[in-house]
Amino acid sequence: MSYQEALNTSARILMGPGPSNVHPRVLKAMATPLVGHLDPQFLEVMDDIKLMLQRALQTQNHLTFAVSAPGSAGMETCLVNLLEPGDEALICVNGVFGNRMSDIVERCGARLIRVDAPWGESIDPAHVEQALQNCSPKLVAVVHAETSTGVLQPLETLSELAHEAGALFVVDAVTSFCGTEIKMDEWQIDALYSGTQKCLSAPPGLSPVSFSDRAIKVLDERKTKVQSWFLDLTMVKNYWQGAKRAYHHTAPVSAMFALREALQLVMEEGLQNRFIRHRQNHELLREGLKELGFEFLVKPEYRLPMLNAVVLPQGLDDAGVRKRLLEEYDIEIGGGLGDLAGKIWRIGLMGESSSKNHVNMLLAALKTIMG
Ligand SMILES: *Cc1c(COP(=O)(O)O)cnc(C)c1O
Repeated sequence: MSYQEALNTSARILMGPGPSNVHPRVLKAMATPLVGHLDPQFLEVMDDIKLMLQRALQTQNHLTFAVSAPGSAGMETCLVNLLEPGDEALICVNGVFGNRMSDIVERCGARLIRVDAPWGESIDPAHVEQALQNCSPKLVAVVHAETSTGVLQPLETLSELAHEAGALFVVDAVTSFCGTEIKMDEWQIDALYSGTQKCLSAPPGLSPVSFSDRAIKVLDERKTKVQSWFLDLTMVKNYWQGAKRAYHHTAPVSAMFALREALQLVMEEGLQNRFIRHRQNHELLREGLKELGFEFLVKPEYRLPMLNAVVLPQGLDDAGVRKRLLEEYDIEIGGGLGDLAGKIWRIGLMGESSSKNHVNMLLAALKTIMG
């Protein structure tokens, strides 16, 4: 392959579990000439990002910023900063990302209490209430939009239960962020992490996070050092909000330019319009897929608008059809994970990829392939 050819990958239509397609304005922002990461101009970019993240999360939290690494690093940031060895943590698990949180909790030296639900179902608050009678966790954590199964988790009741038990409420909003409503303050979420490459439609590699005053108090009262140097909020927070910004690490300047532009696009569209668009395109896809013989994995009231988990019709060649979609139509969709591998597809309609054209392109390609 020549150097030229290697640079020019084909323009894919991204309809998997992320990344999603990116607006040309965001691509252009990434090509902005670099500035130093402590340059006054760049500090303005960081301030813009903070303000727009607060708006998108509907929060006044001062400690709201983007971790310089993908969503999993946001997850780790929340857990390593809030947990100390010997603490208890209650993690709700109904898919891959609840399992990942559980793994991190154990690596923190904390005692893990799991509340499980079958993959494809939401967490039953009654089970959390029951579990809370036999433990006193420092935090209760749950995934808002479980990308491995397509389940949307209602948060308000779980938040109340966590606070009644004296625990912090921690939420994975990687896939829900900018695709469905998140009222961080009203729902009393204490720590939240998200990602850029899903419904925000920025390149992967950053993780917006936000912490309530209650969470900061827990951080301030730690008896032990945070075990991760890079993710230690007591240091990072001085980089993002100190009166005098000091060097902590070199911020990924180009990714931040892109993040600012993507957030700007969200503000221009308006949050509510964006949520409605995600829902409408999900409905359009749902009708088309029904005609082709696909059933949804998840009950209607818990379905994600941005990630459609559909059960494959009998006899459909999972890998073969996905390969043809990619090679002949440039369309990427996701396969199932874990026990659901080979049984479901995960079709993303996230951010820029949530459009009528995306839906119609996929349905037309599927009709042709499936004959
Ligand atoms: C994608 C995703 C993550 C991990 O984000 P990365 O950017 O891949 O590290 C975490 N949680 C959920 C729900 C996700 O969908």
